[in-house]
Amino acid sequence: MIEEAFRRTGVRRTPQRFFVMEHLLLRRDHATVEELCAAVNRDNAMTSRATVYNTLHALVEAGLVIEIMLDGKAARYDANLEKHHHFICDNCGSVEDVEWFDLPPEMEKKQFRAFEAILRGKCIRCQ
Ligand SMILES: [Zn+2]
Ligand SMILES: [Zn+2]
Repeated sequence: MIEEAFRRTGVRRTPQRFFVMEHLLLRRDHATVEELCAAVNRDNAMTSRATVYNTLHALVEAGLVIEIMLDGKAARYDANLEKHHHFICDNCGSVEDVEWFDLPPEMEKKQFRAFEAILRGKCIRCQ
């Protein structure tokens, strides 16, 4: 699946790119550059932060990963390309996907460019 996505978008396969895609697809944890860097280095020591950053940049450019900014903190990365909203835990800061729902119909008459909701509360682990 990842190999195929790389072929389709013309992304050259490197171990780091494969690892980052796999991490984001399987864990769905909306990791930051720091978190991905730590995860890559657990497996494959000596990958610099710059390499992880360049890896993410290539994946975002290819449209395989989206960059999300929540709360003005460090960017987080998401390989879930389906339309969805996000939930942030007030306590541990974890970010989860929330199934898509549309704007109320009366608001759709206005010409909004984009709509993404951020829901807040306590995640199941913190309740
Ligand atoms: Zn939590
Ligand atoms: Zn997401």
